[in-house]
Amino acid sequence: SCLVGSEMCIRDRQVLRAKELAEHYNTELTSLSSFLDAVVSHIPSCVLVQDAVSRTILLANRQAEATFGADRADIVGKTAQQCLPAAVCEFFDRLTNEALRSDGALREAEEELATARGTRTLRTKTLVFHSNDPRSRYVLLISDDVTDENAAHAQVRYMAHHDTLTGMPNRRLFREQLLKALNSRSADRTAAVLCLDLDNFKSVNDTLGHPYGDELLRLLAKRLPKSLREQDTLARLGGDEFAIVLPNIGQQEDVRRMAERLLETVRQPFEIDGHTVPISVSIGIALADTPDCSADHLLRYADMALYEAKRNGRNCLAFFKPEMETAALKRHEVEMDLRQAIMGQQLQLHYQPIMDVSHVRVVGREALMRWQHPVKGLIMPNDFIPIAEETGLIHELGAFTLHEACAEAMRWDDHETVAVNLSASQFTNSALVSLVESALSKSGLPAWRLELEITESVLLANSAANLNTLNQLKELGVKVALDDFGTGYSSLGYLRSFEFDKIKIDKSFTQDVESSKEALAIIRAINGIGRSLDIPTTAEGVETAAQLDRLTEEGCSHFQGYLLGRPVSHETPIEDAE
Ligand code: C2E
Ligand code: MG
Ligand code: MG
Repeated sequence: SCLVGSEMCIRDRQVLRAKELAEHYNTELTSLSSFLDAVVSHIPSCVLVQDAVSRTILLANRQAEATFGADRADIVGKTAQQCLPAAVCEFFDRLTNEALRSDGALREAEEELATARGTRTLRTKTLVFHSNDPRSRYVLLISDDVTDENAAHAQVRYMAHHDTLTGMPNRRLFREQLLKALNSRSADRTAAVLCLDLDNFKSVNDTLGHPYGDELLRLLAKRLPKSLREQDTLARLGGDEFAIVLPNIGQQEDVRRMAERLLETVRQPFEIDGHTVPISVSIGIALADTPDCSADHLLRYADMALYEAKRNGRNCLAFFKPEMETAALKRHEVEMDLRQAIMGQQLQLHYQPIMDVSHVRVVGREALMRWQHPVKGLIMPNDFIPIAEETGLIHELGAFTLHEACAEAMRWDDHETVAVNLSASQFTNSALVSLVESALSKSGLPAWRLELEITESVLLANSAANLNTLNQLKELGVKVALDDFGTGYSSLGYLRSFEFDKIKIDKSFTQDVESSKEALAIIRAINGIGRSLDIPTTAEGVETAAQLDRLTEEGCSHFQGYLLGRPVSHETPIEDAE
């Protein structure tokens, strides 16, 4: 019995042990299952699991409940059709089908859907998996709400492609559109680029202030597209520079018509805050008429054409021509050389005497710039001053001339004046007045001995601001002469708007004084005005004794010309060979 008894004991103990184990595993399983439940429900994405065959939803987490506005109890055990909005259901079905067809590969898609939180974009991943039983397959759907993320990306993309002031496309988007336009060319349709630049934007900023300038640009951004087609892209490349891509162009004449329409549109004055702001624009045009024409080339060509349009007097358009490229290269070469010249001291001043009515007494000298080029030899101002003006190098040249001329004049008789030419473009520099001041104080030259020669173009462009600068210069005590009078506009209004100290009659009249009645009449008129306004007049370019006598008779008070003395360098008094 003891044996039987001990066998019983062993079996009992085994049963007991098995029971204990089973209970242990059971509690472990339960806690594992609720642990997994907790994990799934805390996943911040919306999680659904469907049976691949019946399409019954087997699992839905907390995010799913919140997104679709339904309790888990209303979802689990149902198909999507039975419990989710039709659009969501359709989207999920499509993904599920694709996932099952592609045998489980991870898929991802985005769609804007109506959810319990409103219209949201759901980025959804799908994955097919098997459980222990290889016959059953499940589809796992994980959705994330990417609405805010997408909006932020879109905002960044927009900012990267648009100008903040006007909301217009910027250079980057312009380039993308241009590339598209070039790629979509065909045998009879091409693309064109227009470069636009406002003719007098700076004066709007200077006279009315920057807020007006900004508003003008915004108004332009609204007005210009009205003259364009839907497919065209108008972009702001910076400042008052705009560019347009015209895709799908038939012929040059079509582009010309569009450009003319743009000119006309801009010409209608803008009303800003009670001010009427008249403005005009210049347009350069390049057609992509060779197959290998790149975006960069086209933009550069249009820019060269714009340069031409500006030179032809603004408010007009110009088409690119190959000669323009040659000219631009030449300009670039001179610009580079000129930078060298400034640094390498290749620039010097020659001085030409100005006589009074005695014809022998020197009352002053005009400083005239010369460029001693190491290879090309002597270069005259008309061949490099315009390039210096375009490139902004005129400010360096101007500073050099003023300082040098004032210092040089200190070595002359102390009654002699020194005349320095100023370009209109030097007036765009707000430091012009202090530059003149510093040239005077550094050299010690009394202000009255410095005479600044300007042409009418100073009063023509941006007159209000320039007039203000001229008056400030006069307050320093320097003299201001009106150079080359009789050429250009020769408006008597200029003589009224500013008190000039001297009028210089252009040499073209001097040289025709004996042969042309018209020239003589103009000289008489200028001298008449000079007498009545008490402004002395200088006859420029006197080459013969006969001219000198005639001009003296006509009442000129001062004389300058080869007859009386050529421009000479102060170091080597060798006359200009011309
Ligand atoms: P401008 O101010 O009218 O200077 C007079 C020009 O006439 C000078 O030419 C001078 O050499 C020339 N000239 C003088 N007498 C006679 C003559 O009897 N017959 C003839 N045919 N010509 C005579 P240049 O030196 O070639 O200067 C040309 C222009 O370049 C100047 O015209 C002036 O507008 C500009 N310029 C010269 N130096 C400077 C400068 O330092 N700065 C600026 N901004 N412009 C300058
Ligand atoms: Mg002059
Ligand atoms: Mg002159």
